[in-house]
Amino acid sequence: RAKGEGPGRVTFFDTSMHDQVRERTELEAALRQALGAGQMYVAYQPIVGTESGQPVGAEALVRWVHPERGQVPPSVFIPIAEEAGLIGVIGTWVRQEALRQLSEWRQDGTVGADFYLSINVSPRQLTDPELPLIVAGELGRFGVPAHCVALEMTESVMVDGSRVTGQVLSELRKLGLKLLIDDFGTGFSALGYLRRFPVTGVKIDRSFVTGLGSSTEDEEIVRAVVAMSHALGLSVIAEGVETPLQQGALAAMGVPNGQGWLWGPAVPAAEFAAHWHAGGRAALAAATTTTSQP
Ligand code: C2E
Ligand code: MG
Ligand code: MG
Ligand code: MG
Repeated sequence: RAKGEGPGRVTFFDTSMHDQVRERTELEAALRQALGAGQMYVAYQPIVGTESGQPVGAEALVRWVHPERGQVPPSVFIPIAEEAGLIGVIGTWVRQEALRQLSEWRQDGTVGADFYLSINVSPRQLTDPELPLIVAGELGRFGVPAHCVALEMTESVMVDGSRVTGQVLSELRKLGLKLLIDDFGTGFSALGYLRRFPVTGVKIDRSFVTGLGSSTEDEEIVRAVVAMSHALGLSVIAEGVETPLQQGALAAMGVPNGQGWLWGPAVPAAEFAAHWHAGGRAALAAATTTTSQP
């Protein structure tokens, strides 16, 4: 990469690589302590009806507050966790915390009976043949029905997936969990895996949502995904919806559900409950009506 840039550049490049390695080693060491030290929490982002704006579920997204650096984005620490063999422990914690939270919200009426939580899983987690049994046990322990839980995975799981992964997915599906393809469209894969694996839905990557309302190509891609999903009986969620223009385009194209800053970012559980409480919204609307009367 440094070719033709002179020896000075090469030295500089080496130094910065050295810094990167040290940075990475430091983060990995800190990450090993993070869970035990209570530095992680789960944030929840609503998944809503594109027309109604009402939540049908939420995505659970892990957060790490480093004692000195503050928030470290998952795009930085999840790959480190995967390489360092920590993703299993972190993934299990996120799943159990999310299920515990969902159980609480179901009991206190924050969410309705069909509200679901969508949990990200790394490819590595799906190579554990015990996973379906473990998840079944957790559903029982927290009293959460399987249809209220979705697992999100990227296309790479299907493309590189071993026989074990296929088996694990089949068993999870048999339990009744939803299985969603995350960042759909960004993989390089042939779509044959949609037939081979028991996928129940796709999440259209934000990169195709961005141009809706202004780019005909993005519109055509989304249209094609909707047609395909409809033919295969898959659910569709649009990711990264930021503007009313995008929302309008999605609703017009028949994309039923969406997620994005237009409706709300991922927030801590208490904030989510305060903002999206099923009964609370009605109560708030009523209160507003009352106070606005003369
Ligand atoms: P993802 O699963 O595709 O999650 C969506 C990402 O888009 C989240 O970033 C979310 O905060 C962000 N986002 C949501 N709405 C908008 C929007 O309107 N505009 C824009 N620009 N961004 C939006 P986040 O939380 O930083 O997570 C990044 C990725 O880290 C996730 O992408 C997921 O792949 C991974 N991740 C997060 N939590 C977990 C976890 O518990 N386990 C695993 N294995 N991966 C996780
Ligand atoms: Mg996701
Ligand atoms: Mg996603
Ligand atoms: Mg994405």
